[in-house]
Amino acid sequence: MIQKIAVLTSGGDAPGMNAAIRAVVRTAIYHGIAVMGVRYGYQGLIDDDIFPMESRDVANIIQMGGTMLKTARSKDFMTEEGRSKAAANLKKHGVEGLVVIGGDGSFRGACALHAEHQMPIIGIPGTIDKDISGTDYTIGFDTAVNTAIEAIDKIRDTAAAHDRLFIIEVMGRDAGYIALNSGIATGAESVLVPERITNVERVAAMIDYDQKRRKNVHIIVVAEGDDFGAEPLTHVLQHKFPAMEIRHTVLGHIQRGGSPTYYDRVQASRLGYHAVLALKEGKSQEMVGIVNNHIAFAHMDSVVKKHQPIDDDLLDMVRVLSS
Ligand code: ADP
Repeated sequence: MIQKIAVLTSGGDAPGMNAAIRAVVRTAIYHGIAVMGVRYGYQGLIDDDIFPMESRDVANIIQMGGTMLKTARSKDFMTEEGRSKAAANLKKHGVEGLVVIGGDGSFRGACALHAEHQMPIIGIPGTIDKDISGTDYTIGFDTAVNTAIEAIDKIRDTAAAHDRLFIIEVMGRDAGYIALNSGIATGAESVLVPERITNVERVAAMIDYDQKRRKNVHIIVVAEGDDFGAEPLTHVLQHKFPAMEIRHTVLGHIQRGGSPTYYDRVQASRLGYHAVLALKEGKSQEMVGIVNNHIAFAHMDSVVKKHQPIDDDLLDMVRVLSS
């Protein structure tokens, strides 16, 4: 049986990562498996920033955003030489399995480490962007959407008081899930996502139509990866509607932090727990995810090849429900 594992967080942090780390550490110890923590993701593997973890080390972290193991983007790990160093350090510490909590970039790194050094690895999807295929759930998305909703609700108060049009940029890199879900939840008039080409004329026509029927308050939620972009959209619309007061707001990094929601805490705990059981059973190169509320495994190679498709039905619903 496997004697020792290591756990790291990599890429962008996401609220709920701590709950997953806690679950990994405590599940491993419960089953008599020693756990090493790795600070700063893959860079920590290369720099030998690896330390033994006990149950008490993960006390009082389930409610905290960020990651107690810290995270990093590592250029060195993109090279074979860097990955050899990482593998040598894992070997030195007697680590026989690795849990990687991160996004698809981190899983690409995991694939390379496994291919070159045969290290058994289980991936846990940790990203607020929810852009990972093979799972309905990624750690932090729920909290990030709730944070965006809270901010947009506040902006809507001002939009309503002044009859203003607000163009609000939310996070999500090249995925539109935060935009789509926060847009629906706040009754946005339009949602623009990277998965669809933005038709500015159509957006303008909707505003024109709404103005004619005295619907003066407008919220347009734009994903940061949208092909047209929130700022250019603001300029174009201000030019088309000079009498309107149009404001552009970027929500930014508030969406990445904060105490995780109940949902992120529970699901991240499930993933951490099952990641350890998977390593114990001899699984490797798989991502543990959640599909239809059941634990589901997907091969890491296939996960990194495609993004989660956007839901057309939800996109269609935006306009109907805001009419
Ligand atoms: P995320 O995991 O959130 O998508 P990144 O894309 O920044 O974040 O990836 C995290 C880290 O994973 C990178 O800094 C790099 O060290 C490693 N990584 C990403 N892609 C590869 C790759 N193709 N080969 C090796 N390592 C990679």
